[in-house]
Amino acid sequence: MEQFLQKIDSWQRNVFIFDFDGTLLNSEPCHFLSHKKVIEGLFPERTFTREDFQHFVGKRDVDIYQEISTWGKIDKEKAIKDKQKFSLQMLKKKDVKIFDYFHSITKLFPDAHYIIASNQDENTIRQVLKSKKIEDKFEKIYSMDTLKIKKDQFLKEVKSCTSFSPKEIVLFEDSISILALGKSLGMKSVGIKNDINKDLKFDCDLVIDCTKKDVLGKVNSVESMGLVDGPGIRYVVFLQGCMLRCKYCHNPETWEIDGKSELISAKKLVDKAEKFKAYYGEEGGMTFSGGEPLLQPQFLLECLKECKARGINTALDTAGVGFGDYDEILDYVDLVILDIKAVDKDEYKDLTGQPMDRFETFLAQAIKKKKRFWLRQVIVPGINDDEKHVKALKKFADGVPNVEKVELLPYKTIGVMKYKDLGIKYRLEGVPDMDEEKCDKLALLLK
Ligand code: SF4
Repeated sequence: MEQFLQKIDSWQRNVFIFDFDGTLLNSEPCHFLSHKKVIEGLFPERTFTREDFQHFVGKRDVDIYQEISTWGKIDKEKAIKDKQKFSLQMLKKKDVKIFDYFHSITKLFPDAHYIIASNQDENTIRQVLKSKKIEDKFEKIYSMDTLKIKKDQFLKEVKSCTSFSPKEIVLFEDSISILALGKSLGMKSVGIKNDINKDLKFDCDLVIDCTKKDVLGKVNSVESMGLVDGPGIRYVVFLQGCMLRCKYCHNPETWEIDGKSELISAKKLVDKAEKFKAYYGEEGGMTFSGGEPLLQPQFLLECLKECKARGINTALDTAGVGFGDYDEILDYVDLVILDIKAVDKDEYKDLTGQPMDRFETFLAQAIKKKKRFWLRQVIVPGINDDEKHVKALKKFADGVPNVEKVELLPYKTIGVMKYKDLGIKYRLEGVPDMDEEKCDKLALLLK
């Protein structure tokens, strides 16, 4: 986004022309769907595919239905009215959003003139803009139908249609031919890639890919100013879901992927974290913890990408037991905080309920990627609070490159009540908190 705005900023602009169909996220599929709905209603015996509609992109309703009338007898006027009715219904839906870039542009270039040139009728456009509370952003709305000209003519005459004498006109458009025309007329052109035109070749100054949908994830909770999960001050996100069942887990409420959690988009989550960016300093940033963050790999990846795009440092607090190929995820991780449940395979299985293979796969990939590590192990009385275990951990840690820190975390009984509430049997009943002094002494063996 930043690069995009910089590019726009480098242009001497004072008029932006938005093709309405491309201005609203998902709006193009709305038009597509509304055409589809009308046309399928008119010809119930025919089967239509996406390709059947592809060449309608950028055309006026009146032309589309003119063409369709050659397929069979139809009431053109009624078809157009129905199409507009469906289109309006869909465009007004909450999940049809205004492009984020549009908001950014209007904020950053408050003196520019924004106009809409569309094949939609003016009333539809106004109603949608009103329902989205952005009516006032657009100085003029030109409906090609009302003007009785086509968009290509409009672009040729845009200087006379607007009362401004612009330094530069920036055209946002999804039709390849209109973009080419804009370019040939000396306008800066921004192509809007959508579901219909995504396979076509764009020849314009910039392309915005709007086929990307929001990636949603399940977040159990967040801590806005965390001090222990990574360096500096951090925004820590506890993702829902974990396939391990560690005996000492104090967050059993995060286990079930369908457990109580907030469904949120990667972008929104990082927006929240970004508000605290001033506190992060050189070292701080965002930590993805859980549950197990690798259990939602797609969401995690989107979050990490968002962080990197905004210059936010990232840490992954994980037991290394998730899904997928971690390669791309690791590209966006600055620090891996790896929870070493046990270094012995049998002990690992006994403690977590799962074999060690997934952990080993993750570790191998993180090593291959030359990641920086913090290693951690929870020390539980009677389970691993002895020299033998800590020395084995040290040996293990010595075999991992780029380890900056190995920490022993004393076991605490704080989560026991949660088990009662959730009706889950607690398997370390009667085991006391780990003595912190003893834990500190054991930590000396790591030196
Ligand atoms: S990996 Fe973490 S969240 Fe999962 S069971 Fe173990 S302690 Fe709990």
